[in-house]
Amino acid sequence: MDERPFSAKIAKILERVRLAAEKSQRTEDRISLLAVSKNHPAESIRTAFECGLEDFGESYLQEALAKMEELADLPLTWHFIGPIQSNKARPIAEHFAWVHSVDRGKIARRLSDYRPAGMPPLQICLQVNISGETSKSGVSLEELPRLALEVMQLPRLQLRGLMAIPAPADGFSEQREPFARLREALAGLQSLGPGLDTLSMGMSDDLEAAIAEGSTIVRVGTGIFGPRKR
Ligand SMILES: *Cc1c(COP(=O)(O)O)cnc(C)c1O
Repeated sequence: MDERPFSAKIAKILERVRLAAEKSQRTEDRISLLAVSKNHPAESIRTAFECGLEDFGESYLQEALAKMEELADLPLTWHFIGPIQSNKARPIAEHFAWVHSVDRGKIARRLSDYRPAGMPPLQICLQVNISGETSKSGVSLEELPRLALEVMQLPRLQLRGLMAIPAPADGFSEQREPFARLREALAGLQSLGPGLDTLSMGMSDDLEAAIAEGSTIVRVGTGIFGPRKR
């Protein structure tokens, strides 16, 4: 197991992001690092914050709410990145700044309905089933434009872009293919309205390929926090 302290792991990830951005002649300030803290304790998040990270991604609502309470003294930005059951839409709308995993209209409408008036609009990425796997969550590329139009019309949501978790692939060019499709899908939506500036793609094992295809948010768990417990 990798026992380097957090600060070294975070520095290593930031260096990978910087190098990948440089290779694609992109400026790294357009790529943000989302630390995926699911299955890791609040104390790990606190340490990561002390190392300079402010954006954290969670997949399980109850676990996330407990950590938010414990870390209420820190100015953190919370992102929901897991599957959404419709009966969880309300607490998600009330407690998160971003949701990366919207894949149907019903969930989007509920998130908008429940977003408190005093908070800024909920920042939304639509999750796309980019590898066409039947069992995976995510909207299909065919249904994406209709869902995007619907989300853009919801008053308390701000559509920012797309998210995907491609099927695992081995080589660099194989990893790039689905990310390229997601980039093209976002470009296809950009005529619908302004502000579509986000590609949430790339994790610990494929962030270089994602950055080469234009990722603006890489979601890294294992690379920062080490292996997950469950
Ligand atoms: C767990 C998870 C990640 C992080 O994956 P790692 O391989 O640990 O970096 C990223 N995105 C989503 C949606 C996840 O559920």
